[in-house]
Amino acid sequence: DFASVTILVPGRLNPDTLETLKETFDVEHVEDRDLSRLSAERRASIRGIAQMGPIDGATMDMLPKLEIIANFGVGYDAVDTKAATERKVVVTNTPDVLTEEVADTALGLLLMTVRELGAAEQHLRAGLWETKGNYPLTGATLQGRTVGIMGLGRIGLAIARRLEGFGVKIAYHNRSERSDVPYPYHPTLESLAGAVDTLIIAAPGGASTEKAVNAAVLKALGPDGIFINIGRGSTVDEPALIEALKDGTIRAAGLDVFDKEPHVPAALIALPNAVLLPHVASASRHTRRAMGDLVINNLKAWFQGEKPLTPVAESVEAGLARSA
Ligand code: NDP
Repeated sequence: DFASVTILVPGRLNPDTLETLKETFDVEHVEDRDLSRLSAERRASIRGIAQMGPIDGATMDMLPKLEIIANFGVGYDAVDTKAATERKVVVTNTPDVLTEEVADTALGLLLMTVRELGAAEQHLRAGLWETKGNYPLTGATLQGRTVGIMGLGRIGLAIARRLEGFGVKIAYHNRSERSDVPYPYHPTLESLAGAVDTLIIAAPGGASTEKAVNAAVLKALGPDGIFINIGRGSTVDEPALIEALKDGTIRAAGLDVFDKEPHVPAALIALPNAVLLPHVASASRHTRRAMGDLVINNLKAWFQGEKPLTPVAESVEAGLARSA
């Protein structure tokens, strides 16, 4: 009987998901994430969390009966998995159901950046096509490019499959080489950047990729370089990227993610060779609903005494994702 199980929703959540959650569980929605406004008794009734955003050990300590954090999103770098494991709290995420949508967005962002489609549309909307004439020819083309993917996982592979249709060459960098792809592997990001003219980030955030895209990587990418980030803003040294876009170290960038979202540096917004999207890669109602359903099904499975559907690697390794 899920109605007796209390689930905390800190912060904002997809409205469809919140509605379904409320129909299923006893939901405590704390929009400003300030748990101190709940009584100690109420906090002690909370057994699960459904959320997108940061959860640290101090938050977990306020919830003595917490068993599971169901993260809305495949990226869970904002959840302290070490603190969760220490407290025997299992963490789940939403892989696969968003892969194709995010890959579609990545290709859209790549084409917008290479062929200046956003700026060309602005040219038309501003009436300049009629008064000043054609939008200038773009300096860049996708034809003949070699695309490097950092993070050839679920999303990276879906991007690569789409890129094959465009007839470009593909290479990649992961921490470990894959045995199931024909693309050249580069053991370092700098080596990959040096071998390609287009770099797409589809890797997770967190400590292992922190500021991996730095001035040296951007220099290696070179003056015709196109940089696309669909992973996490923390993976990029943002001031170094701004400098590289300003001084022609690379040609252009297309970004869906930023270091301090929703803040985007004014220096980035001022750059004509940056295409900027407000973290919308998975943001269709269709895909967000599928992500929400997976969050709810993870919670249901867990509170039915079954194995969670999609526990994160850290929880599996710690033996927390109990089996049915
Ligand atoms: P996967 O786990 O399937 O793939 C991640 C890939 O990144 C793996 O190939 C992994 O290979 C590689 N990787 C991990 N750590 C490193 C590292 N330190 N250096 C180099 N490569 C690394 O995840 P998904 O494809 O499902 O998702 C990837 C990420 O995309 C998410 O974590 C999320 O941050 C981001 N994302 C962004 C969205 C948006 O709205 N913009 C939407 C959805 C996801 P290996 O382990 O061998 O290193």
